[in-house]
Amino acid sequence: MTSKRCELPQTGTDWKTLQERLVALGSRDVDWRAGRTAVYVFHPGDDVLAVAKQAYALYQSENALGPMAFPSLKQMEDEVVGMGLSLLHAPEGARGNVTSGGTESILLAVKTCRDAARARGVDAAGAEILLPRSAHPAFDKAAHYLGLRTVRVPVAADLRADVGAMAGAVTAKTVMIVGSAPCFPYGVIDPIAELSELALARDLWLHVDACVGGYFAPFARRNGVPVPPFDFELAGVRSMSADLHKYGYAAKGASTVFHRSEEQWRHQVFEFDAWPAGGMSTPTMAGTRPGGAIAAAWAVMNYLGVEGYCAKARQVTDTREKLMAAIARNELLRNHGEPLLGLFSFGSPRLDPFAIWGRMLRRGWFSGLTTEPRGIHLMLSPAHAAVADAYLADLAASVAEVAASGEQAADTKARYA
Ligand SMILES: *Cc1c(COP(=O)(O)O)cnc(C)c1O
Repeated sequence: MTSKRCELPQTGTDWKTLQERLVALGSRDVDWRAGRTAVYVFHPGDDVLAVAKQAYALYQSENALGPMAFPSLKQMEDEVVGMGLSLLHAPEGARGNVTSGGTESILLAVKTCRDAARARGVDAAGAEILLPRSAHPAFDKAAHYLGLRTVRVPVAADLRADVGAMAGAVTAKTVMIVGSAPCFPYGVIDPIAELSELALARDLWLHVDACVGGYFAPFARRNGVPVPPFDFELAGVRSMSADLHKYGYAAKGASTVFHRSEEQWRHQVFEFDAWPAGGMSTPTMAGTRPGGAIAAAWAVMNYLGVEGYCAKARQVTDTREKLMAAIARNELLRNHGEPLLGLFSFGSPRLDPFAIWGRMLRRGWFSGLTTEPRGIHLMLSPAHAAVADAYLADLAASVAEVAASGEQAADTKARYA
């Protein structure tokens, strides 16, 4: 299907009318404000959303492509990166950037690894990235864009990366290995300490994808959750990705990529001057970089502080534990693995989870799915604490309906994205 042509209106429309139309356009969207959605949106509470929105608006025209023109944004980016580096135990001399999202952070980590390998004289064409089966597709996208290959290794019975199997899959072409903290499908944290040992033993670049956990796990740990080591405190970890627009509760368009050393980071930068408008040096993919996204991240981090993030993390892990406990008590349902943070998935030993998902959708609950094994996927926000009981009541009703009808759902429903 081609894109439909649509005429630009000949004359303009006043803002009030447009605002009404914008609100009306959203009326068919998922109701995330009421906590009915457990994917795509992170709802930390109206106060935090307001801070992000106002900070974004203050800097929406400013452009982080020009740090000389906008020392404000340079300072905010440096401070955001600095806070991330210290939360993730980076050593002195580490360096990072704010990017547009997890995908860009991962793309840049892969590009940096590739170019560092090239600088050592390695032929990077067709070089391999070794991933657990549960790692995010952004690595495959990066490999596709950058002329590398990915090799996915099945996860262990506990749904975490199988480090022994990954060690056995290392070849002369392997340049990067990946672990997730946590992985998206199951919310479990891969054994990063063992991956770090493997990386050191075989001189490989270990990237830890903490896109969804980087601004959550440090606070859950302060709350007493037994989060295992997963960051730069492990010597084999060379780079990390951590999304501000997930559990950092920043406005969308904000993530961070971190490197263990400045020397390593240099391979991330692209420099060019063979055109008529002077030299251009950009550390990230974008040219123009939205000041609003950086300002919103800076403002939310300073608004919440460690105490604010810890309180939000507590709400989320309490809600996850409550949901998982109720699911464990229902013999028609089964939790997948042992997630410790804000996302988890569950299925059923007898019923088709996609059929249950369909019933929940009709009741107004929008969430993700897993396919290996089939399951319902929930990525929780602080706002879900208030609706957990209602969710569980609807879940019990949906399970009973599917048990009574024996209904199966079509696989295609997994393609909700
Ligand atoms: C969300 C996510 C990504 C990708 O981040 P985007 O911001 O959606 O590009 C990568 N890895 C994990 C584990 C994620 O949860």
